[in-house]
Amino acid sequence: MARPESDRPTTDIPTDATTRLSIGVDIGGSNIRGALVDSVGAVHTVIAEATPDTVKELDDTLTVVIERLVADQPAGTVVGVGLAVAGFLDRDRRIVRFAPHLPWVDRPVGEILADRWGLPVLLEHDANSAGWAEYRHGAAAGARVGVVVTIGTGIGAALLVDGELFRGAHGVAPELGHLQVVPGGRRCPCGKRGCLERYCSGTALVDTATELALEGDYAGPLAQTLRAARGGVVGRDVVSAADAGDPLGVDTMHRFGDWLAVGLASVVDVFDPDCIVLCGGMARRSIRELGDVQARLRPLATGGAHRPLPDVRLGMLGETAGLIGAADLAAARFGGPSVTAAG
Ligand SMILES: [Zn+2]
Repeated sequence: MARPESDRPTTDIPTDATTRLSIGVDIGGSNIRGALVDSVGAVHTVIAEATPDTVKELDDTLTVVIERLVADQPAGTVVGVGLAVAGFLDRDRRIVRFAPHLPWVDRPVGEILADRWGLPVLLEHDANSAGWAEYRHGAAAGARVGVVVTIGTGIGAALLVDGELFRGAHGVAPELGHLQVVPGGRRCPCGKRGCLERYCSGTALVDTATELALEGDYAGPLAQTLRAARGGVVGRDVVSAADAGDPLGVDTMHRFGDWLAVGLASVVDVFDPDCIVLCGGMARRSIRELGDVQARLRPLATGGAHRPLPDVRLGMLGETAGLIGAADLAAARFGGPSVTAAG
């Protein structure tokens, strides 16, 4: 089983003649991170680059990453490439329809890059990639129904049912972050109002703190800073204030925990999972804020006192989950070591 990221160095590539590797690349809005990944999910030779703004530069940068990763490998060792993309893909996952922070629009990325690299290429949504990695090599291993929720600037989610990723009929499920929890609530960039991620994410913390500061008579430094310079406060500042005992910071984190419990209870009601894994920059803090998860979920989930409730666990693969999952899916499709059906 994989270890937590802090304890998870990249390792030497085994010299076994049968070793087959795949490449995983996580293409985020700010950074590209690519690596060779072996059949047990171990990560080798990580290469990171800033994400460029134009299609040509993005394709060129990815090409440099791939060329550097395959350069020292014997021919035939690398079986394919998996790209984890933060955006909407077509149903067959060959075309990037739209990615808010990437220049690709309606571009058949898989085909174009496969031709260029001479390697088969698979695309996957980044949340699904991370979820698949936690299922194959991390905290969701063995789950019959597992939900992997990534909590950072927003909320991403992946659903694993009987060893397969569940993507819905049109490939866009599950968008848990955009469940409407407050009718007419805070505006969401998705176009709706009151979405869960507007109340339960790193970026939501500043909104919650600002609302609480207006409602209550808070005297601590966070309230003073918010009144003086709201635009300069970020979610991390709210967490730090809470850690320092600032009353507004503490109350804001409690609200965050309350909303998270509401969201997870909806997940329990709809999917009845045996395992929920929390990943992303807010994950560790989320687990802490939830406290006794079963006690939090029992009154919120339908029939909560009379049914089994899921384990809620911290993800084990950290920032590399997306690229590990994409690489593993590529290995499964393109002839790597045999794995269970990847859906
Ligand atoms: Zn939304």
